[in-house]
Parts: sequence; structure tokens; C-alpha cells
Amino acid sequence: MSDRLAEPLAATLGARAAGPLAKMGLDSVDDLLRHYPRRYGEPGRLTDMDRLQLGEHVTVMARIASATVRQMRSRGGAMLQARVTDGRSELALTFFAKRPGALRPHEDKLRPGRSGLFTGVVSEYRGTRQLTHPDYVLVGVDADDDTEAIIEASRPIPIYPASAAVPTWRIQRAVRTVLDPLTEDDVPDPVPDEVRARLGLPTRLTALRSVHVPEDAPTWQAARRRLRFEEAFVLQAALAQRRRRARAQDATARPARGTDGLLADFDAALPFTLTAGQRTVGEQIAGELAQPWPMQRLLQGEVGSGKTVVALRAMLQVVDAGGQAALLAPTEVLAAQHARTLRAMLGPLAEGGLLGGAAHGTRVALLTGSLGAAARKEALLAAASGEAGIVVGTHALLGDKVQFADLGLVVVDEQHRFGVEQRDALRAKGRVAPHLLVMTATPIPRTVAMTVFGDLETSTLTEIPAGRSGITTHVVPAGNARWTERVWQKIREEVDAGRRAYVVCPRIHPDDPDGAQASTARGAGEFDEMPEFLGVDPGGDPADDGADGRAPLRAVLEVAEEARGLPALDGVGVGVLHGQLAPADKDTAMARFASGETPVLVSTTVVEVGVDVPEATVMVVFDADRFGISQLHQLRGRVGRGSDPGLCLLVSTAQPGSPAAARVEALAATTDGFELATLDLELRSEGDVLGAAQSGRASSLRLLRVVKDADLIAEARTEATGVVDADPSLEGHPRLADAIAAQLDAAQEEFLERA
Ligand code: ADP
Ligand code: MG
Repeated sequence: MSDRLAEPLAATLGARAAGPLAKMGLDSVDDLLRHYPRRYGEPGRLTDMDRLQLGEHVTVMARIASATVRQMRSRGGAMLQARVTDGRSELALTFFAKRPGALRPHEDKLRPGRSGLFTGVVSEYRGTRQLTHPDYVLVGVDADDDTEAIIEASRPIPIYPASAAVPTWRIQRAVRTVLDPLTEDDVPDPVPDEVRARLGLPTRLTALRSVHVPEDAPTWQAARRRLRFEEAFVLQAALAQRRRRARAQDATARPARGTDGLLADFDAALPFTLTAGQRTVGEQIAGELAQPWPMQRLLQGEVGSGKTVVALRAMLQVVDAGGQAALLAPTEVLAAQHARTLRAMLGPLAEGGLLGGAAHGTRVALLTGSLGAAARKEALLAAASGEAGIVVGTHALLGDKVQFADLGLVVVDEQHRFGVEQRDALRAKGRVAPHLLVMTATPIPRTVAMTVFGDLETSTLTEIPAGRSGITTHVVPAGNARWTERVWQKIREEVDAGRRAYVVCPRIHPDDPDGAQASTARGAGEFDEMPEFLGVDPGGDPADDGADGRAPLRAVLEVAEEARGLPALDGVGVGVLHGQLAPADKDTAMARFASGETPVLVSTTVVEVGVDVPEATVMVVFDADRFGISQLHQLRGRVGRGSDPGLCLLVSTAQPGSPAAARVEALAATTDGFELATLDLELRSEGDVLGAAQSGRASSLRLLRVVKDADLIAEARTEATGVVDADPSLEGHPRLADAIAAQLDAAQEEFLERA
């Protein structure tokens, strides 16, 4: 950063002006210049006053209709009351003073016909909305001379994120004060000249001027695009460097063994043929494991697309080559399930050293917090001795206590929280970096993957293996007794046919406060465990959904109780599963459900991720309108995993036409995960997308929008990769290198604040 940009605002603007800005987190010239307008007032276009909310701090563009000063009889003192209008609705402006004379200067300025910006907190007095003692600036009146006044009056007016202490035009003035004297040398541009020239982008200084002091709308639009490009470019350059550095790291090459080995035996015994996608991705991974630098791959694929087989084959290749593989699951339930699945798939191959096991077989160890002391010791020993070729567990596996004889591959399943820090921690573990495979069933649109998982290469499994019968989804309006009865009957029929049903509710206890609804839908930890990334937010403010006056949310314990008493479910075992159960009880509940002892499982969203019971055919979700799209899609993926068709019933209380109803209907309309994920992202705020997934990243992205700016991100990635490939250390691009360092500092800082 140049000295000019680093200069404290107190030095440039004086302590008095800088104080309130500092409260908004704006300390340096650079901070202020990055405080971009939230929107632009178009001269002549007035704010729609019907949209003002009581108690809100607002800035409105309006025309003065009248202004009168009068003496107040009752209280003494004087009052100026003006009315401003957007052409349809009016807003009152009220000023009080001891004497009428004190109000004359306002009266003088607030002449009918003039327009301006008025800012204050919206209150109500006798049914009329008003601003008391608003701050204001009038178009063409407050400028220094007439020419400037005309220019000012015809320009878009930047409207900044402001506070009660600093109205938007004070910010605007402060920005002008620091911006006007700057020269190109003061504002280093991280985007190299040749890239700028090729893409026809303005310089950084020009862009800043156009964003803060725009001549017209196209000017600020182009300038903002250029600044968004810069954000994407710096991020992508950092990621390109990261990818190169990872490549420069040492890893042990684990080439495939060919015909003799666990992998070959496993393939020979496989009861199905791999899909084309599984083969392609398998070859990709096999090739990368054979390299002496760490593989860094993200494998995405719909629920049921067969990622586990792909991962297991990779693990076997590593074991064949003398290494070990660790499989990380987000919860203990899933870790236990994975261990069971892997052992079942491997059969005798997982009984190495045991009587009847394959001669060159290996072992699958499960290591979780709920193990007893003896079992834990045994698992730790198996990992440390290398006896267990595959070790399954939660993230605790990466802790200090767990030693591996030779960790060659880490597979992270269904894990959205495995961010850059964890990836770094992992690479730091051990003599050489293990290969890394991250798997996710939540389809991630390409540019989000580029941003959030930008240091990973991506593969996608697009086909669902043959033999699946698909899932039908219906929306069931809540509150209709006949429909509800039909739902339970349907469950009964399926159970009688030897199948199982999930019943999902948004909360655990019926007496949990309903006020917690919003946080339930938003994935609050106190209700249950939910993965945060792309999986929780219902998209939009639940308060907007027209939820008022609806029946309270259904709760697991209540619904289970109800189900047990239903004639339709007479003699049918009903189990319960939620995050407040002890790990052992969760395991028991899952096992009873899987075995058919309790073929109906009432649960929270703990079943959302990865749980695999092939006999499950029905998924009923109560208050489905309170869940996010991706979350519902994940839930739905729990059924129809065997040869019988799945049925998903979304019981919804959403008002027709509301955003919540739209979400639920989208689910019923398509099973295409990518389509749903994109829709879901469009409904979310950026912070939800980036913030939860990756600490720090969000802070550097002020203007960039990962969904809307897809093209720009792709372009930035191409350009940035080109620049970094040609000059890996960025010696010839010191300004870019500085920008990357500044971004990392910010990320670091934010990470430390959260930790
Ligand atoms: P994911 O982890 O992607 O959700 P899984 O790997 O759990 O999917 O696979 C789901 C089910 O499909 C498993 O029972 C698995 O054995 C089976 N499966 C995987 N690949 C195939 C295939 N090529 N053909 C038939 N069944 C398959
Ligand atoms: Mg899976």
C-alpha cells in the first residue's frame, strides 16, 4: 500500500471528522476508499416512501412540499414542520427550537420545490411518519458555486452505508477530501497493466473516482465491475500461488500396484460395474496418487452417486503402496457407519491378520471420542503400528494424539467446514504431506468451488448408478387432517412391505420456544448439528415468510409420541434420533432403524448427511418450509437408495406465493441438485456462502458476488493463473504481491478474532 493510502484518517481529515468514521471501522485512507456506496440516488428519482420502516435509520431522496414555522402554545417554543414527498406519499420533517428565529435558517433552505436527501430515524406521530431533526442536504443548494451546483444536481448521488453519527454526505465529503488530491502513483494497481489493457479496464484510481464521484450510471457500473474483477483477480492469484506451492511440496508417490493387491482383489469382487464417471475420476485420482506431490482434489457428486466406492478404491491403492488412509466424517454417527460400510464392502480383505482373512488383507479401525478406553487404545495402536490400513473417525483424527505409521491419504467426507486452515494444518502434519480427497454431496456451482475451494482441483460424478428407482416428491399442505392421515397410512404400507420411513422435524422438544424458529431454520447449533455450508439457510428472512399466526413447529418428541398412539401405526416400532442423545444412544437408534426393529425413525436433521439405510423408502419432513433447499435435497437423498422407489413428502405450512412455498415447490419440481443449489445460492446472502465455509475470505470480498459474478470470476481465474504461471513469485508484480499479502493478513486477523 502506498504511504498515502496507509495514512490515518485523523491525519487527513482531523480528529473530529475521523472519530465517528473510526467507529465504523474506517481508520485509514484506504479503508475509506473501500467504503463503497451502497447504492446511488438518481437525481430526479425520489425514494419510495411507502417502504420506510418505523425505527429505521434512513436516507431518502425527496422533494419539499411545504415548510412552516409556528409557535407552540402548549409547550412554549417553536416548531418547524416541513412535508417532503416522493410524488405519492409524504413524510414529515420536524424541528424544534426555543424561538422561531432559530428555525429561520432551515425555513430559508427548505423551500417548496427543492429536492434533497434527508436522513434520520423514522418515527410516527399521530399516524404520520416523520423524521425529527433530520440532517439534510439539498440538491443544487449546498454546492460551492452555481456551475458545480448544476453538475452536482445532474449526477448520481452516492449513498453510503452510514450511521446515525455520520450521515452519508459527510462520508461523501470525507471521501472527496481524501480522493481528490490522489495521483496514479498514490494508488497502486494490483491488476497488471497488460491484463488491464487486454480487458479494457480503467486504472484503480479512475475506478475509485467513478465509484465515489460518478458522472452517470454507466460510469459507476463499469467502475464497480472493475473493482469486482480486482477482488476476484487478487483472490485467484493467491489461490494459483497456493496450488503451485502445494505442487512444490513433497508427498510420497503411491502408484497403483496393478494386478496383485487389495485394489485388484476388491475390483474383482465388486458386485456391480463402476459407472463411467467412477472410472474416469478413479483414473484421475490413481494418476495423482502416483505423483510425488500431494493430490488436492474435491470430489462432488449427488447423494448416491457412488463417491464412497471411489474413495475406497483410492484408499486401497495407498494401502497397496504401503501407506495408510484416514477417512474423516463430520459426526460420530457417520464415522461409525462408514467403518461398517467399508468393512462390509471389503469383506475378508478387511480381516488382515485374522483367521480366514485375506493373506494380504488390511484392517479398518474406528476411532471416535465415544470409544471405551480399551477399544480406543487398541485403535490408536492399530493406527500407530500401521496394522490398520484404513482409520475412520471424526476430525479428532487430525489431533496430536493420533499417530499414524505412514499416513498417505486423507479423505474428508461430506465436510463443508474443512477450510483452508484445516487443509494447511493437515499438510503440516507429518514428514511429507498426505494426499487429500475432499468429498461433498452438495453440488457446488463452479465459481463457488473456484472461490471457496479454489486451491483444489475438482471432479464431479454426474451419473447415479443404475438400479435406482428414483424419488417422487410431493408437497402436503399441513393442517389438513385427511392428508396427514394419508401420510401415516403410507408409512404403514411401506413398513408392511419391509421398508423404513424417516420422519424429520425442525425441533426436538415441543416446549422449545417457538421464537427460536428462525434459528432452527438457520441451523442453530443448540437445536441440532447441521453442516453449515450451503446446507442450512432457508434463503431469505424467515420473518418475511408470513410465518405469523401459524401453528407451532413440530417437534421430534411430540411427533414420536403421537405416532406411537396412532391406530395406523399399531404394532410398528417408532424410534427417536436427535443431537441431544448420547453418542451411544444415537448409534443404537440408527442400528434399530437399520435392522427394522424400529422401522419408523422420528428425528431432527441429524439424518441429513450421509446416513445410508437402503431399505428406507419414505422421507416425511414436517414444517418443510422452514428448511433450506439444499438441506431438503440432502434429506430427500436418504431414501430411494436401494432398488425400491423413494417417496418424499414435504409437509408445509407456507402461504401460497410466499418465498417459503417457492422453495418447497422447487424441490417437488426437480431432483437436479445443481439446479437446486444454484437457486439456493441466489436466495442467500454472500456471507452465508463464503463466511461459514471459509473464515477470512469474505472480508476481502466487498463487491464480488460469487453467484452473480460467475463470468468475472472465471475470467479472473484465467488471467491470474496466467500471471502466476509466468512469474510464480510475482517478482515482476510487486503490487499484486502486496495485495495478496494484505488480503492474507486480513484473513488471518479475522480468523484470530473468531478463534
Ligand atoms: P454417495 O457417497 O456418493 O452418496 P455411495 O458411495 O454411498 O454414494 O453409494 C450409494 C450406493 O450405491 C451404495 O450402496 C453403493 O454400494 C452403490 N453403488 C456405488 N457405485 C455403484 C455402481 N457403479 N453401480 C451400482 N451401485 C453402486
Ligand atoms: Mg457417502
